[in-house]
Amino acid sequence: MISLRNIHKTFGKQTVLNGINLDVEKGDVVVILGPSGSGKTTLLRCVNFLERPNDGEVSIGDFTVHCKHPSKQDILKLRRKTAMVFQHYNLFKHKTVLENVMEGLIVAQKVPKEEARARSLEVLEKVGLSAKINDYPSQLSGGQQQRVGIARALALNPEVILFDEPTSALDPELVGEVLSVIRKIAREGVTMIVVTHEMGFARDVSNHVVFMDGGVIVEEGKPDEIFVNPKEERTKQFLKRIT
Ligand code: ADP
Repeated sequence: MISLRNIHKTFGKQTVLNGINLDVEKGDVVVILGPSGSGKTTLLRCVNFLERPNDGEVSIGDFTVHCKHPSKQDILKLRRKTAMVFQHYNLFKHKTVLENVMEGLIVAQKVPKEEARARSLEVLEKVGLSAKINDYPSQLSGGQQQRVGIARALALNPEVILFDEPTSALDPELVGEVLSVIRKIAREGVTMIVVTHEMGFARDVSNHVVFMDGGVIVEEGKPDEIFVNPKEERTKQFLKRIT
């Protein structure tokens, strides 16, 4: 359903992605692992052109964007098929929880206000925040703020949700509540690509693990293949260091 072909990305003279090919099926939970600086976040941001790849192709469904000369309309169309959950939540500080979730529906998708409200209440219930809809982000814990971020993404009903280290800004005691919300929506069949350092989560929620190093995919496979029987030396060394 999603395919990345020969993605290249450079920042100045530094090549950060050096020919990435990746296929994601509908309903897949893909986890991207790898050492810091290996290009994981950049790859995720290339899927929706928050970073523009220098070369290659990004396809979602039967819609393909060629990275060398994309039109603004094509980028917008691609973006509307995705939603992103950021490390630092990126909520509007002066809007309530409910308004934060409604905003994208009203502004980007032109959904009528009442319908946007109903849909937002539904997803806020799903992430366990029905009691907080009128609060402002500053009144919430980090875990609650991130659950708003997830609700906002979910409300858009995208073809894929991109998670960029969704728990790495959280105090350790708040990580669990966010992972369990992600786990719950994964079980409902939402397609997702997740950059994370949470190995337990990667192992039990994903069905496709990608290990990156130095701007390339070194190895990919089912969680058991990667965690139990990694083939590549670089994967073995990485797993030894972090588990
Ligand atoms: P990871 O997510 O695996 O830690 P990143 O994708 O964040 O890796 O970064 C890969 C490399 O690209 C790093 O060396 C980083 O410094 C560089 N990089 C990322 N974003 C930018 C940017 N906007 N400008 C310049 N260099 C960047």
